[in-house]
Amino acid sequence: MELEALVETHGEPRYRAQQIAEWVFRKGAGSVEEFTNLPVRFRECLTRETVIGRLELVETTVSGRSDTAKHLWRLFDGQTVETVLMRHGYGRTVCVSTQVGCRMGCRFCASGLGGWVRHLRVGEIYDQVLAVQRVSGQTVTHIVLMGMGEPLDNYENVLKFVENVSAAYGLRISQRRITLSTCGLVPRIRDLARAGYSLTLAVSLHAPNNELRNDLVPVNRKHPLEELIPACAEYAALTGRRVSFEYALLGGLNDSPESAVELADLLTGLLCHVNLIPANPVPEYDYSAPTPTAVRAFRRVLEQRGIPVSLRREMGADIGAACGQLRRRYRPRGRKE
Ligand code: SAH
Repeated sequence: MELEALVETHGEPRYRAQQIAEWVFRKGAGSVEEFTNLPVRFRECLTRETVIGRLELVETTVSGRSDTAKHLWRLFDGQTVETVLMRHGYGRTVCVSTQVGCRMGCRFCASGLGGWVRHLRVGEIYDQVLAVQRVSGQTVTHIVLMGMGEPLDNYENVLKFVENVSAAYGLRISQRRITLSTCGLVPRIRDLARAGYSLTLAVSLHAPNNELRNDLVPVNRKHPLEELIPACAEYAALTGRRVSFEYALLGGLNDSPESAVELADLLTGLLCHVNLIPANPVPEYDYSAPTPTAVRAFRRVLEQRGIPVSLRREMGADIGAACGQLRRRYRPRGRKE
């Protein structure tokens, strides 16, 4: 661990690394002065040599039903990211962003509209969880890597985040309560299957055939369904974890009963689950939400064919916090919000 090397160069015992990790990752200390179980002289050295960054809250927007809050943070370079906190009967889920912008170009998602700027650093992903806890006063129980960005495009940092947040020195959030969602970067899915984590993998499928998926999720042109589905099967086989397929229902595009039949055929025999998401509005695109009748019919087809299916409860659509609505908002430092 890098912290151990740091304490050793100061001639301090190794257990100091554990103490520092707890201050930073579990207690969310904002400065070295707060590390009260460390000798004053060592703290002075650390203050000189290290920077403890904190996300700066720009604004919080709360949904009409008050079950969802969206936070906009400013990063050290003036870029901004959004994080969503959702309250459920079973706990509190935080939806974190992994990149500033996104370069996957999905045809219905707001996150790609402002282009891609950069990966988030490990600390910037981690701080979203700490900062949400700090400003809300709530303890986070579940994490979904479903905010802005493609987590598997920022693979190393995302996995370090997962390690830290689930560690004994961190927030101790079980990896089983962390869901990583990807649009289908097949080589990374295969890496992840072998990496020894117990994350829930969610795959943004959205179409039952290559023709439609090439259009909706352009990464499909590079990694088509005949590569993606076996990679998911392998993930399930190697981890024993059920893969969750997200399917955003876009009115008149992919929500017909025929598409449902095709989807059921594609997934039959796989250890999986389908999560239907009625499309959330993004003004720049011209698709519509599916009708309630189309959603019911689609769901019934999957159920009849034995595919486990659930309907994602819409949360935060009124504040632009629902799936696919997070976007890049750049606001120069110092300007009034
Ligand atoms: N890049 C990752 C993480 C984003 S998660 C991924 O693609 O999985 C956000 C989820 O919301 C994805 O399944 C995404 O495809 C879906 N989504 C994007 N835009 C949406 C919209 N307008 N309505 C409903 N779901 C949308």
